[in-house]
Amino acid sequence: MTSNISQAYPYASETEAERAAAVAATVAGHAGLDVTIAGESSPLGSSPLDPGERRWTYHHGGCGGTLHVAGYARDQHAVYVVCDRCGKTALR
Ligand SMILES: [Zn+2]
Repeated sequence: MTSNISQAYPYASETEAERAAAVAATVAGHAGLDVTIAGESSPLGSSPLDPGERRWTYHHGGCGGTLHVAGYARDQHAVYVVCDRCGKTALR
């Protein structure tokens, strides 16, 4: 990634530590969301990352929040993401 892209899309990636904190805060703010995530995805722990490694984030156009990677989709080869504003989950 070049610095120009970073500046144009400031929410395009985050460190593993930032991702974990964002998902934890989102789960804490939405009742039952931890159960939903656990039921629909596999933890990222099966493929541990260095804490400084970067993860993609995605803009959620529906609410203006940011979608953070929360795990891997169980049935599809996709990444499972959760929105830090509305708590909606999706596949990427
Ligand atoms: Zn949202």
